[in-house]
Amino acid sequence: MKKKIAILGSTGSIGKYLLKIVAKEKQNFQIQLLTANKNYKELLKQTQKFNVKNVIITDPVSNKNFRKENKNKVIKIFDDFDCFSKIFKNKIDYTMSSIVGLAGLYPTLNIIEYTNTIAIANKESIICGWNLINKKLLKYKTKFIPVDSEHFSIWYALKENKNLIDKIFLTASGGPFLNLHIKNFKKIKINDALKHPNWKMGKKISIDSATMMNKVFEVIEAKKVFNISYKKLSIFINPNSYLHAIVEFKNGIIELIAHNTNMMIPIYNSLFDTKKKLNFSNKQIQITKLNKLDLRKVNFIKFPSVKILKKMPNKNSLFETILVTANDELVNQFLNKKIKFNQIISKLTKILDNKKFSKYKHISPQNIKEILKLNHYVRLKIRSNDI
Ligand code: NDP
Repeated sequence: MKKKIAILGSTGSIGKYLLKIVAKEKQNFQIQLLTANKNYKELLKQTQKFNVKNVIITDPVSNKNFRKENKNKVIKIFDDFDCFSKIFKNKIDYTMSSIVGLAGLYPTLNIIEYTNTIAIANKESIICGWNLINKKLLKYKTKFIPVDSEHFSIWYALKENKNLIDKIFLTASGGPFLNLHIKNFKKIKINDALKHPNWKMGKKISIDSATMMNKVFEVIEAKKVFNISYKKLSIFINPNSYLHAIVEFKNGIIELIAHNTNMMIPIYNSLFDTKKKLNFSNKQIQITKLNKLDLRKVNFIKFPSVKILKKMPNKNSLFETILVTANDELVNQFLNKKIKFNQIISKLTKILDNKKFSKYKHISPQNIKEILKLNHYVRLKIRSNDI
């Protein structure tokens, strides 16, 4: 039987990787839904290639443009994420949640009841709304697989030994500026920051990797998904990104999970639940290259973002929404040439230290409205320079 799947954010880098995998054996899949925000041309190409009958395009102008192209009306076009009951008559097999930013939270929460498995790449949703996501996963008995390469690796290592976990070390490449002298950080240009040495990713996550905020987010994500305290989570630099996670178990074993720097590996394994031989060519890492893992501690002076972890509360709280939103706004400001690279973290730290926001460390989100309302408020404050 064909595997029925949906991709939230199919026009992004993760969405396209998944479609590359599906293209290798189109006969085994039926794509029931693809979604995009603005890139209607790419979405149109995807629907034609994979014979998709339902799409969601959230940006009104792009939605209109897509409708113009859909002359014979074979594709059902929706404007928002309240339409899942009209699309899915029964639970589908697999959903990839790969919208970038907090915009992914609402669709992720809404689609859980319509899918047997949900693979989530969208880390911002996990960081801000994990307690809401987890509640729905349990209610609808939906299986969850993390797709971020580090979290996928930890999840893989824990498949057998969940109860014996002791410590987790997340690895970081250190991004494009690992070896740049600190005095040159002021001169960093947008294109320098977008050039990740090991991974090809969307713009926002590339900037987060350059500031190392991406690693901060990943530690928070790991804390939530694997229900482990911050004390048991640390970061190591592994410049060639071969190692994705190191997990120490209480039985004396340490597992090191390595794979090539190709996001198709965790995505593929999430799609087939780790049970199938790869259907694309994968240049395995030459084992001798593992002699040069070069594990190092993070330089906090160069990468002050990592100190932000000390400010995070132990329980799920609305403070995570402030962190994600403020970082998102500041990354946009950098990409729009309004602030310099090193101002992303200095401004973010100032915002997080603002007394106005400290009460949110003690408030756990009860519903998505609270998260979205706070997201809106923080954006307005930052845009009007009122912090
Ligand atoms: P991209 O920027 O490449 O793609 C984002 C996708 O989200 C696109 O389909 C985009 O549509 C859609 N989108 C953007 N804004 C909205 C919105 N407001 N409403 C609805 N859809 C929207 O991102 P990536 O694929 O790089 O990353 C996706 C997620 O996965 C992120 O959370 C990232 O942190 C995470 N991740 C990514 C990795 C990677 O290697 N890329 C690795 C691990 C995690 P459109 O194209 O029309 O704008």
